[in-house]
Amino acid sequence: MTFDVAVSDPLFAQQQQTLNNLARPTTRSLGLYNAGLSAEAVRQKYGVTHIAKLASNENPLGASPQVVSALQADADFSAVYSDAASARLRDVLADYTGVSAENIVTGNGSEDILHMLALAFLNPGDRVVTLIPSFGLHEIFPRMMGADVTLVGVDQRQQFDVAAWEQALSTPAKMVIFSNPSNPVGCMLDKDGFARIIAAAPQECVLVIDEAYFEYCHENPDYPDSLAVLAAQRRPWIVLRTFSKAWGLAGLRVGYGLASHPELVNLLNRVRTPFNINRAAQTAAVAALGDPAHVKASVALVNAQRERVAAELRRLGFDVAPSHANFLFFDCGRPSGEMAQHLLRYGVIIKPWREPGYEHWIRVSMGNEEDNQQFIDALKAILAQGAV
Ligand SMILES: *Cc1c(COP(=O)(O)O)cnc(C)c1O
Repeated sequence: MTFDVAVSDPLFAQQQQTLNNLARPTTRSLGLYNAGLSAEAVRQKYGVTHIAKLASNENPLGASPQVVSALQADADFSAVYSDAASARLRDVLADYTGVSAENIVTGNGSEDILHMLALAFLNPGDRVVTLIPSFGLHEIFPRMMGADVTLVGVDQRQQFDVAAWEQALSTPAKMVIFSNPSNPVGCMLDKDGFARIIAAAPQECVLVIDEAYFEYCHENPDYPDSLAVLAAQRRPWIVLRTFSKAWGLAGLRVGYGLASHPELVNLLNRVRTPFNINRAAQTAAVAALGDPAHVKASVALVNAQRERVAAELRRLGFDVAPSHANFLFFDCGRPSGEMAQHLLRYGVIIKPWREPGYEHWIRVSMGNEEDNQQFIDALKAILAQGAV
């Protein structure tokens, strides 16, 4: 079926106008999340056979084989609704994290929990403090609710600027959100910095600590044990983690939040869609938690590759931010959008950064050795041609 109004028809333009009149003003002005390109689209457009997809921080080892067999066994139940409470998954997570199940909320990816937090807490004009450069949704979801967002930059060395955070937190805020390690920079807030930011944050606010990359650095002695620090505080907080990165389940969409109080979970339950974690995702996450060795292997591979690729980039003369996650953020010395276009011709997908002040920066995810080499070789070829 085709709609009977042609694009050139005045009624088409009129409807566009009507929709924009009906939409909430905050919806009209909202930025779009900058999602990466698909491997298939690049393969078709550029005719390259091997694609190095290094734009979305996915796990180069994929999911655990135990996840694959659990999904196959569960396929027969596709017609049956998922458990709206994710009870089994929350029980297994309680065992895994040591946090009781009533303090755990699950999401269709941890981005879903960021969305619930915005819906549950933010009114127009509320102040939210977050990082720049940033994981887009930390800013987009608050803005969707009409919140005023204060962005705190990193320092010259691309590290958390703790003094700037203390300053930003000296005036009231409803919500404080940051990722540690940060995405896209990869910088890690250490124990002392974490304690200072928590101490500076207003008592009456929701602290949202996004630990999407927890698994890559939790063994670092400087990485704060956020649950231990926050548990000692009688105030609202939530720590977010995800199965999308080290656990290799990005396509299935599962994240979780560890909350200070069951009432926080109750509030989020009121605004979430009832069956937000689909059946396959719940099955996969439970199976994944049964294979921690797979995560260990993924982290070991990625952390070793990260050091190797960082050294290569520095040898090529680039300014590379020290990273504690599964990606590197570097200044490519020219508009990163153009560099990204050139890399696509070599079958390499990276993420050119777009936030003001970072238009020369690229975030590249760590793939397996072969994919990373394809990226380095492509970069060298482009530089040698003087193409950008
Ligand atoms: C990848 C990422 C997420 C997780 O996204 P999912 O919705 O769980 O796939 C959340 N926060 C940050 C900072 C991330 O980089």
